Amino acid sequence: MEKIILTGDRPTGRLHIGHYVGSLRRRVELQNSGEFDKTYIMIADAQALTDNIENPEKVRQNIIEVALDYMSCGLDPAKSTLFIQSQISELCELTFYYMDLVTVARLQRNPTVKSEIQMRNFEASIPVGFFTYPISQAADITAFKATTVPVGGDQLPMIEQTREIVHRFNSVYAPVLVEPKALLPENEACQRLPGIDGLAKMSKSLGNCIYLADSADDIQEKIMKKMYTDPQHLYVSDPGHLEGNVVFTYLDAFCKDEHFERYLPEYANLQELKDHYTRGGLGDVKVKKLLNNIMQETFEPIRQRRKELEKDIPYVYEVLRKGSDVARETAAQTLSEVKNAMRINYFDDKELIRMQSEKYIGE
Ligand code: ATP
Ligand code: MG
Repeated sequence: MEKIILTGDRPTGRLHIGHYVGSLRRRVELQNSGEFDKTYIMIADAQALTDNIENPEKVRQNIIEVALDYMSCGLDPAKSTLFIQSQISELCELTFYYMDLVTVARLQRNPTVKSEIQMRNFEASIPVGFFTYPISQAADITAFKATTVPVGGDQLPMIEQTREIVHRFNSVYAPVLVEPKALLPENEACQRLPGIDGLAKMSKSLGNCIYLADSADDIQEKIMKKMYTDPQHLYVSDPGHLEGNVVFTYLDAFCKDEHFERYLPEYANLQELKDHYTRGGLGDVKVKKLLNNIMQETFEPIRQRRKELEKDIPYVYEVLRKGSDVARETAAQTLSEVKNAMRINYFDDKELIRMQSEKYIGE
């Protein structure tokens, strides 16, 4: 069986460092690993509209931002198919058929849908499209017969829902669809990176982000002035706490031993730094400076590549147009297999036409 990747992001804002550690960094590694037959990366504009119906222009404007972020991080159109969800109408058709395979109660139990409904104050009036987006996500994944979906931890219930739909479709109709597996980031910090305020998941919709496109000064200001640490750590000599301390969570996500050689050679690794912090005698400013150095080193080359790409926006749209053409062909092939399996292929089914005519000729 072919090994195929599909994943994507909603164009509701520029991408942030939560996307980077949650999925983007891994995608680029997988793309370059040569282990996969195909990689599809989708800008999920139709899904973004499900909770941004008052603000379609936001979605429209952010498509190019997400594409620029993708390519500046190393997603390469020569190796990956980058495309826009709404341009593949086959995905809507698949969604419609999959709707018959899922109950309202099952959607209501989906923990991600539950928490996102709460976050958006949708309790009293949930748009149907939003409520059913796990089904459209199943269409996205299965249209490309994806085996591997690299995502952050919040997406696990979506992949589970997709697997159920695949299972049900294959047992009711015919084994056409492929069950995907989620690929989660290696450590907990990366699965659900908190916002700089430490309150919730870093999320475009919450404004608690460090963006990939932030300038060096923006990053420094967000880390040194805004980032939440340990409120009980008033004096350097006080013992500090790691739990809920965003600076350490970010270090967990970004720091490698080699960074200590470059920026803080008095420690061998992150564990030694953590031990000192919890013992007392290590100030927040020193830890924040280390994080700032690491983040600048990580994001400087990405920012530079973005600047280059920004000079030729028509080229980036062309990449998306070509990618969408390729994606449409693949999705159309799957849709045709799905319709055959569901036996809604009346005009191609010579046997059906013959039997129906015999019924009447026989009378
Ligand atoms: P929105 O607020 O519009 O939902 P978002 O910031 O949650 O935006 P999505 O486009 O929904 O971003 O998510 C895209 C991908 O990034 C998903 O795989 C998701 O799991 C991952 N992701 C998003 N936020 C984080 C985060 N804070 N930490 C780790 N992964 C994340
Ligand atoms: Mg989200």
